[in-house]
Amino acid sequence: MSQVYDTVVVGAGMAGLVAARDLSTRGRSVLLVEGRDRIGGRTFTDAALGGQFDLGGGYVHWTQPNVWMELERHGLEQVNPPLESKTLYQLADGKVHTTEESRTYELVGKLFADARKRFPLPFNVSAVDNSDINEETLEERIDSLQLSKHDSDLIKGALGGLVHDYAKHGSTQLLFAVASNFGSYAAELETASTWCITGGMKKLSDAIQRESKAELRLSTAVTKITDTGSGVTLTTSDGNEFWAKTAVVAVPINTLRNIHINPPLPPSVSKMLAEGNPVRGSKLWVVVRGHIEPFSATAPAGQHPLNAVRVEKRWGDNTVILCMVSDSDSIRHDDHDAVQRALRLFVPDLEVVDTVWHDWNSDEFSQGGWMMHRPHHFLDGAVRIRQGHGRISFAGADIAAMGPCTIDGAMNSGAAAAVQVEGMLNK
Ligand SMILES: Cc1cc2nc3c(=O)[nH]c(=O)nc-3n(C[C@H](O)[C@H](O)[C@H](O)COP(=O)(O)OP(=O)(O)OC[C@H]3O[C@@H](n4cnc5c(N)ncnc54)[C@H](O)[C@@H]3O)c2cc1C
Repeated sequence: MSQVYDTVVVGAGMAGLVAARDLSTRGRSVLLVEGRDRIGGRTFTDAALGGQFDLGGGYVHWTQPNVWMELERHGLEQVNPPLESKTLYQLADGKVHTTEESRTYELVGKLFADARKRFPLPFNVSAVDNSDINEETLEERIDSLQLSKHDSDLIKGALGGLVHDYAKHGSTQLLFAVASNFGSYAAELETASTWCITGGMKKLSDAIQRESKAELRLSTAVTKITDTGSGVTLTTSDGNEFWAKTAVVAVPINTLRNIHINPPLPPSVSKMLAEGNPVRGSKLWVVVRGHIEPFSATAPAGQHPLNAVRVEKRWGDNTVILCMVSDSDSIRHDDHDAVQRALRLFVPDLEVVDTVWHDWNSDEFSQGGWMMHRPHHFLDGAVRIRQGHGRISFAGADIAAMGPCTIDGAMNSGAAAAVQVEGMLNK
């Protein structure tokens, strides 16, 4: 047997990078194993159209403690907002409206009115018994308000940039997110989708990795992890084996289910992995001709291919528009006519010049987008998996306690897993 590491970390997304950095700078020997040929995971700053585009997670906020601490630590806290929108277009009941913003927030306020009662202490999801809504879907919660189709669509549009299918997501994760933002969905949206760092997220992942003393192996996909009782054995797709005293597994739940873990995971975790993260969304950047007037637009998921649209910045003589696509299968980014048709629902004379995106669904190392839990799992499987499994700890935004689905949550869970593993190593 060759080297036995103190810890092997699987996955070099923000969670794995932080876990590997924290453990290795505390003097532990760490191997960081990554399936792709790059670090960063679902944050991915790609060079395109003569610039840099964040094709995955890109928005951060100073109210997110982990990400802000990392940005300051690496001198990257220069964050930029998008251009200020002059008009909000909202698709509701088959028509586009421009005067419904305040009504929408009134309705969304009703939808999440109980958020802070449900999660009074966001750092402890179990502080209150929420078993009565554990199975509730977002669709059921919206339906319970007994709204007209018009009003129900206003709410669905407001959530459109975060969800994939209202009937597939539980209500608890979004209630939790709103509770963590002082009960305000507007605040939740600002933290999740407004401020980006100069130069893109790659600057941050590279900075964390530079600080790390972990040995990094790229293009190394893990297929099997065995806890032998005294250590862990890791098997990769090319048949290699690595040995360590402990492991941190920091991969998306949609790829975790393809890793054979022995002994088997507890039933609530296996169920969460089998059902998976339903989000099939992507982020589509569109360059349109000229300096158009900044606008935003929303559309309910399932009713239009582009669900949250916003003029982001100027691009030379042209303009860049960000589009959140709830279902990547509903539009092809390279079909510029289709993208132009979809945008023209809101602003009729837009002319698409180019587009950029990454398909997170067909990417074998994500197999889906950001995390929005199905019913049940946010309060069950996710809680259970955070407790660890023998000598294996788990991390990642998909299972994060604080900031689930976000870069901040990934970092939080990576740091927490490092502490958990440190405890095992000190025994
Ligand atoms: C389009 C999009 C937009 C988003 N926008 C935002 C945003 O603006 N703000 C925000 O906070 N969040 C956003 N998110 C969410 C955020 O990017 C993710 O939640 C976060 O980056 C996940 O980090 P992670 O480390 O938990 O997982 P990942 O980043 O997915 O990292 C997991 C790593 O594990 C690797 N891996 C997977 N399987 C294996 C295997 N078998 N063997 C070895 N390696 C493996 C992967 O290649 C990957 O590098 C967005 C996500 C997407 C997809």
